[in-house]
Amino acid sequence: MNLSSETLAADIEAELPEAIARGREAARDGALADYIPELGNADAEVVGIAVATLDGRVFSAGEAAAPFTIQSVSKVFSLACVLRGGDDGLYPERVSVEPSGDEFHSITRLEEERGRPRNPIINAGAIAVTGRVAGSTPEQRIETLRGFLSDAYGEGAPDFPLDDAVYRSECRTGFRNRALANFMQHHGTVDDAGDAVDAYFRQCSLLVDARALARLGLFLANGGVHPCTGAELLSPFHNRVVVATMMTCGLYDEVGHFAISVGIPAKSGVSGGILAVLPGRMSIASYGPALGPKGNSLAGMTMLEYLSQRLRLSLFEPER
Ligand code: GLU
Repeated sequence: MNLSSETLAADIEAELPEAIARGREAARDGALADYIPELGNADAEVVGIAVATLDGRVFSAGEAAAPFTIQSVSKVFSLACVLRGGDDGLYPERVSVEPSGDEFHSITRLEEERGRPRNPIINAGAIAVTGRVAGSTPEQRIETLRGFLSDAYGEGAPDFPLDDAVYRSECRTGFRNRALANFMQHHGTVDDAGDAVDAYFRQCSLLVDARALARLGLFLANGGVHPCTGAELLSPFHNRVVVATMMTCGLYDEVGHFAISVGIPAKSGVSGGILAVLPGRMSIASYGPALGPKGNSLAGMTMLEYLSQRLRLSLFEPER
């Protein structure tokens, strides 16, 4: 343990309580996502944050052990899982990597661009990616993904169970995602729309908490290699594909604002989780299900902005 990592640890620990206080305050103005009805049953006041540093320590505050479904944050891991499997036909042939500027479940541009999704972390792109996770059934694809998550977590990994109520709720209401998948099958981007979308609903319903999620992001912050186990989860190039896509596409239609206010590659989800990975330094996960108008966790955005400023984390700050 060198002095600089001790100083960083002390600084993180000193700032987390204030980050949580600000997150709780911000959450009061938010609203739960309820287009997946089961998500509307979350406790809007829960707020948690965890920071994992490359030496494997995890610092946390608030309800960092509160479980939530990973939702769109999973897209980062399914993409990594497919790239790790050597799926070179994915990027850039089947799925582009440009910000869409549209809503996360938009079909408009998909139609204009003949079934080739704008990027792998809008819904269309993510469904196409999940359809290429190894396996011949949705259940097998999820087992492959769980294996990847387990390697990404390292020693003592949780089981990443499925929240059955959320999964069934999305199955009952996810017509738009089915439309995206069907449209992509028409264009040959997806081989089996029903299989891909079912695997996607399952992947979004896996349970994590902020502490676990922060650990899961460590390999992304470390060039694709788990800093504690030494496992190579992604090649340096594919890791760059994932992290750069988070920076340019990870926060819905608020990604530009987030780049300015926080300046860290991140991915958010509708259940209120955000995973932010700072290359060479740390992985931060926040949870707060009360969302702002663009669908991002208000607590998460506020806490990340606060930590970024206090700890000088932004990639765009020369003082780093
Ligand atoms: N399962 C959600 C959906 O597809 C995930 C959306 C999100 O978190 O952005 O609608």
